[in-house]
Amino acid sequence: MKDCVFCKIIKGEIPCHKVYEDDYVLSFLDITPRTEGHTLVIPKKHYENFFELPDKEIKNYFKGVKRTAELLKTKLNAKGMNILNNNGEIAGQFVFHLHFHLLPKYEKGKELWPKQEYKGSLEDTMKKLKS
Ligand code: AMP
Repeated sequence: MKDCVFCKIIKGEIPCHKVYEDDYVLSFLDITPRTEGHTLVIPKKHYENFFELPDKEIKNYFKGVKRTAELLKTKLNAKGMNILNNNGEIAGQFVFHLHFHLLPKYEKGKELWPKQEYKGSLEDTMKKLKS
């Protein structure tokens, strides 16, 4: 898709902080993270949302989601994780290329979707992920 920001990331036209990649998915840090390590997992083929994902792609896509979640949990010492997906403008979807949000959680009592952005640097998070 010509004007899709996530397709541009896949093509390398827009930079990203890559967390995980295989033949089917790319995972990268969200630019406005809600927790440390907030990551998006996208299929390399453009599907507007979850409803558009063909059945035959489900396994490959969710394998990528799981691999990414495991990596984040281990490297960042997360105690848990929210795995979320917004479908359609009314549900809060802003980028119309399928993505699941992975939000590592570190302490009790925090909201599902923290109102405050995580203020640490993405570079510091990447150092932990590569260690
Ligand atoms: P959603 O509301 O589910 O469509 O979420 C879209 C997410 O994409 C938001 O959390 C944005 O911060 C994130 N986002 C938008 N552009 C970029 C980008 N170039 N790199 C990383 N994350 C992005």
